Amino acid sequence: MTSASASVDAETAAMPREDFTPFEAVNFQFDRAADLLDLSEAMRVALKTPYREVMVEIPVICEAGDLRTFRGYRVQHNLARGPMKGGLRYHPEVDLDEARALASLMTWKTAVVDLPYGGAKGGIDCDPRDPGLSQRDLESITRTFVDRLQVFIGPNQDIPAPDVNTNAQVMAWIVDEYSKFHGFTPGVVTGKPIALGGSEGRESATGRGVAVVASHASKDLGLDLEGATVAIQGFGNVGSWSARFLADMGARVVAVSDVDGAIFDGDGLDLASVTEVVAAQGSVVHAEGVASISNEDLLALDVDVLVPAALGHVIHGGNARHVRARLIVEGGNAPVTPVADEILAERGIPVVPDILANAGGVTVSYFEWVQNLQQFRWGADRVDQELVATLERAYRTVREVAEAKKVSLRTAAFILAIRRVARATELRGFRSGPHMPTGQR
Ligand code: NAD
Repeated sequence: MTSASASVDAETAAMPREDFTPFEAVNFQFDRAADLLDLSEAMRVALKTPYREVMVEIPVICEAGDLRTFRGYRVQHNLARGPMKGGLRYHPEVDLDEARALASLMTWKTAVVDLPYGGAKGGIDCDPRDPGLSQRDLESITRTFVDRLQVFIGPNQDIPAPDVNTNAQVMAWIVDEYSKFHGFTPGVVTGKPIALGGSEGRESATGRGVAVVASHASKDLGLDLEGATVAIQGFGNVGSWSARFLADMGARVVAVSDVDGAIFDGDGLDLASVTEVVAAQGSVVHAEGVASISNEDLLALDVDVLVPAALGHVIHGGNARHVRARLIVEGGNAPVTPVADEILAERGIPVVPDILANAGGVTVSYFEWVQNLQQFRWGADRVDQELVATLERAYRTVREVAEAKKVSLRTAAFILAIRRVARATELRGFRSGPHMPTGQR
């Protein structure tokens, strides 16, 4: 099923509400910035409305013999600046509204770091931890999804990538299935295994980017990362690599967590052994010689830097007053609700927003796609150097906008992104009256 539009409330929301849907929450942040840009009403609606939404049925006969049906989604939010780009999430709570929210965040994220992309996101409402689903079943689910989606994706159209509960293996299945229809096309997804056209440095890219922006934001706060304490919620791709890079910079990672619980060691966790435990037993909670705490306790720890790197809306109106960190760096997407954002701002706790903090992943995805199109491989050093340079440039520009406009880093990042997408939209021929921010970048 496809539909070209989603209902978007064109009204500017003045006050954040705790019952915002994920898409409303992103649009609230959008409107904050659009107000400061004096963006016309027509352009606001154009920029908020998804370009295309695809929802498919995925029936699969599981290895256990039962027939199960899942729903797959792909929301393509905006393509003014280039092909659409964004992850694929496998999680029972995946739905259309969440996909819209995450797709729109991708539009703003690719614009903040100035990549020639638009935004998209998708997923399947399956649970890879379900003991009733084998690896083979996940492969069948992925292939059926691709069969139904393949006309809408491609290297010049929409390029998926890993997100929660998807990884390089899932991307490899997508390359194989898509190539049956279109010929060998590694550039249809990024985050692939290196043996199948993936890039050096992609797996660690989001975490490396989180650490890079965390170090700059800490410096701006007068906080030395050397010896600073860090708590990280989520120990998957983003959380575990963020932990490793922050530790390499001299920080003391005192707490990490996953869906099963959290662990704490005030002297700093032995990350290599936690990683081994996760590989062998599936969760950080099996680590020995550390204290067990809850995920909620982790968010309230007295640390210098808190990195929420799991799911959305985990810091909300109900717990934002308990946060004691000096700085929050959003490793995951949308971990802080708009209500929590206000509370944290009142309390003087800066938040480095997702669309800047976790943009390292899509940045190296861009490098991977470029390598696929050019059929020329880059070395790891080149990837890492270009990633760091891209994020440092984006961080500096966002900070300049924040200082000039006296706004938060989040609003500044949205201002920068909206200007860029609005400008591209205008250049493509969309005219919306005298309030367009013509000529600004
Ligand atoms: P992942 O599946 O590799 O890891 C997710 C982690 O979160 C796991 O450790 C899981 O156990 C944990 N988790 C899940 N529910 C939890 C809960 N209720 N409490 C605590 N921990 C919980 O996923 P990922 O790729 O690391 O993505 C994490 C976040 O980062 C998501 O918001 C994703 O959209 C965002 N992100 C990912 C990338 C990327 O390159 N993978 C890029 C940008 C943003």
